[in-house]
Amino acid sequence: MARWEEAQATLVFASGFAANLGTIPSLVEEGDAIFSDALNHASLIDGCRLSRALIHVYRHADVSHLDDLLRKHGASVRRRLIVTDSLFSMDGDVAPLADLLHAAKRHDCRLLVDEAHATGVLGQHGRGLLESLPANDGCIKVGTLSKALGSQGGFVCGSRQLIRWLVNRARPYIFSTALAPPSAAAARRAVAIVVAEPERRQRLLAGARLLRDALRQNGFGETRSQSHIVPVIVGDALEAVQLSRQLEKRGMLVPAIRPPSVPEGTARLRISLTSAHTEEDVIRLVEALRTCWNLRLGDAHAHR
Ligand SMILES: *Cc1c(COP(=O)(O)O)cnc(C)c1O
Repeated sequence: MARWEEAQATLVFASGFAANLGTIPSLVEEGDAIFSDALNHASLIDGCRLSRALIHVYRHADVSHLDDLLRKHGASVRRRLIVTDSLFSMDGDVAPLADLLHAAKRHDCRLLVDEAHATGVLGQHGRGLLESLPANDGCIKVGTLSKALGSQGGFVCGSRQLIRWLVNRARPYIFSTALAPPSAAAARRAVAIVVAEPERRQRLLAGARLLRDALRQNGFGETRSQSHIVPVIVGDALEAVQLSRQLEKRGMLVPAIRPPSVPEGTARLRISLTSAHTEEDVIRLVEALRTCWNLRLGDAHAHR
């Protein structure tokens, strides 16, 4: 993993969740401060809570709000850590990583970036969004073997010193069984495929662009998505579930995501494309979505 990621060192955990639970409390503790994006993944949130550091939540992807908070909560704090997803799991949008890196440098704090959804897909070499930022040294990166890589497990990239520290401090690493060898072998093979077959991620991203365009053209509204995770905001939780069931009957697996996973009133369908989906699949999905959506409106009127 370290060779592929071009990191000094890497540590593999039994899951991405465990990687965050182990890493964040090893970096900060009581008396320190964390600055956390409002839409961060649950495992980052729980890692922050477990550390007992003070947590300041900044508005989603809002670096000027983060800047204000960093100015306000600086002097009295020993260590400070900024924590963010790189590709957000519910909206498919990306963090302003270049600006976050600058903010971290300006305020002399560390930055932890969770690339779970970006690993294997984004970046020229498929290593995620940090890959394209030259000044990312000193940044701590978390990834998972369980999404694009299709296996199981999580990992952390950083300096040799950081990884040595985690080996001695990260409790989910020390006190839990290591990754099963078959999972490790599968992930290893998956990384080799990411390296050897870039056309897979190019095909995926082209399909995602087609999907986002088709949704927009069919009146499903603008979303922040810039990736292969594409939400269709429904609003009402029950309606989202019904739409998901209708699509499943047509052979399409599009899960409904409801509060508290997403904010109240923003229940949604979350479409996750894979590189195996064809253009025809994408068109078929959008057409099915239109049909089900119209049925839904018809039902709503009938009930009234
Ligand atoms: C899925 C996900 C995780 C958890 O990874 P697992 O390997 O499934 O435990 C962590 N962080 C983010 C941002 C995720 O999307």
